[in-house]
Amino acid sequence: MVCVWALLVASAASAQPGTTGVVEPALSPRNANYTIIAALDPATRTITGTERILWRNITTIPATTLQFHVYWNAWRDDKSTFMRESALGGLADRSRSPGEWSRIDVTSVRLREPFDVDVTSSQRFIAPDDGNMQDRTVLLVPLGQSIEPGGAATIDVAWTAHVPRTFARTGAIGNFFFIAQWFPKLGVLQDTGWNCHQFHAGTEFFSDYGVYDVSLTVPSGWPIGATGVERGRRDNADRTTTHRYYQEDVHDFAWTTSPDYLERTARFEHPTLPGVDMRLLLQPEHAAQAGRHFDATRTTLRYYGEWYGPYPYGHITIVDPAWQSGAGGMEYPTLFTAGSRWLAPAGVTTPEGVTVHEAGHQFWYGIVGNNEFEDAWMDEGFNTFSTARAIAQVYDPNYLAVRYFGGFIPWVFKDVVISRETDGNRLAGYRRDARSDAQSTPTFEYFPSTGGSITYNKTALWLNTMERWLGWPTLQRILAAHFSRWKFKHPKPADFFLTASELAGRDLTGFFDQVYRSSNVFDYGVQDLKSVREADQYHTTVIVRRFGEAIFPVDLLVTFKDGSRATEHWDGNDRWKAYTYDRPSQALQAVVDPDRVLLLDVNATNNSRTVAPQGPRAATKWASKWMVWFEDCLLSWAALV
Ligand SMILES: [Zn+2]
Repeated sequence: MVCVWALLVASAASAQPGTTGVVEPALSPRNANYTIIAALDPATRTITGTERILWRNITTIPATTLQFHVYWNAWRDDKSTFMRESALGGLADRSRSPGEWSRIDVTSVRLREPFDVDVTSSQRFIAPDDGNMQDRTVLLVPLGQSIEPGGAATIDVAWTAHVPRTFARTGAIGNFFFIAQWFPKLGVLQDTGWNCHQFHAGTEFFSDYGVYDVSLTVPSGWPIGATGVERGRRDNADRTTTHRYYQEDVHDFAWTTSPDYLERTARFEHPTLPGVDMRLLLQPEHAAQAGRHFDATRTTLRYYGEWYGPYPYGHITIVDPAWQSGAGGMEYPTLFTAGSRWLAPAGVTTPEGVTVHEAGHQFWYGIVGNNEFEDAWMDEGFNTFSTARAIAQVYDPNYLAVRYFGGFIPWVFKDVVISRETDGNRLAGYRRDARSDAQSTPTFEYFPSTGGSITYNKTALWLNTMERWLGWPTLQRILAAHFSRWKFKHPKPADFFLTASELAGRDLTGFFDQVYRSSNVFDYGVQDLKSVREADQYHTTVIVRRFGEAIFPVDLLVTFKDGSRATEHWDGNDRWKAYTYDRPSQALQAVVDPDRVLLLDVNATNNSRTVAPQGPRAATKWASKWMVWFEDCLLSWAALV
């Protein structure tokens, strides 16, 4: 841990980010660089933009085409793959009046370097994922020439776009605008070709790192929040103002504007991590909540920074979106939206949960740039786990737990201790959808309405299982090493698994076979416990059973009336195993996995049996309370992305 730490701190110190958007030396390959000039007309909700892209081919194959994401075309009509999948998954939010749909029309594509050629007329939409020819979210542009490995191209693109009434946290309501995925953005060229998926209902984004230099024209007096920092401002004759934002080493650019925003600033300081200027744009009615936003963001910057590695940009923008905007709870480089609709009385941690989670995406997705189309669990799952863990450092025990468990039966208090691992990682949702997809299925092919439980909940639960199995120091070393090795790069699942086995000092392939490559569920339980008098002894028999298909080693704890105990370590491979004891005392209780190491066990209620006849009744009562509590947590957390 110390060695990894020293390296991380050293690299942060040399970055000297300041508040200019400059990161020196470069942390990323910077092979996809955008200079964008765009203007918003709020009256017609139209954006007119041009972009110059400086792109380098950092793969081993030549490029003869370019592929662009044109995300807003997903909300052009209900024939897009996004809308069809939304309908399939029952994900509603499909009704829009005519002016509330969106579109991006690319009006010009011109290659400037290495050869000047207008390729506008040869652009065409493709549908690499599902062949839906009515989907217009991936634009292919033939180059008519080859950009060799190591070569570069300069491309000019012009477009006009219509801002939707919010879909997927992007759009407008009244004079509030949240503008994301809004410009034609290159996919990622890999050694296997372009990775440029269509926009799907259940997945998000993937792009290369670069430098963004973006000039945005909006009505004068409308504050802007954006990726990067403002480096210039110019008032125009037509009562508009052009703001120039700049950021190096990011893979996306989002922005927001509204005349209603209040602006607040604060600072994150830490003895070993770089300082961060925090800027908050919030709704006037939430003026009193500024401190909570800053404190939650500090929680993320501190704990994620201490556990994984430092936040390198020197500034972050927190956006409190307008009521009913639908823009809350989303992440972009150096900027995220909190969840104003969840703001609640002090003491309930859910709004802090949203803020910590979205700030946390700066680390998992922003800095470590996994492919969210294919492996969304690599950021969402890691981040769900980390969110609950960070919150527990500051806000535990929170009122959710106290409200439901206060004054309950004593051994339930033991479970308050693991509330972060259960409610924080959303066991109920996983239990409901556990068999819906193997985690190794590409995320965009998960069934739309249940994929979240596999992406978020299952990953967080198996990370927690790893923590309770291998210990936090080991898991922390694994995650820190993964972060350090893959920051500003695009890791694949195998990269993480390799690092995990290496840092754990043992081959974890079998574990990942169970949790990642399979949709099997874990369910260990005590099938039977008998303890009968035979002469001067009690003969005790315990049958432990593997009710589920998935395999994990579990302990068995048998307690006896005289206070003595027996602990067994079962490899969990067979369907069942019997343990017998001849002791002077009668057995009292048998518990499989007594320390709840296996957080993925979908049925905790069969994990114990007592000899006393009141056992089953007590178990039922406990189980029903338990479910009420889980349901409450599920409702609280379901909207978090
Ligand atoms: Zn998320």
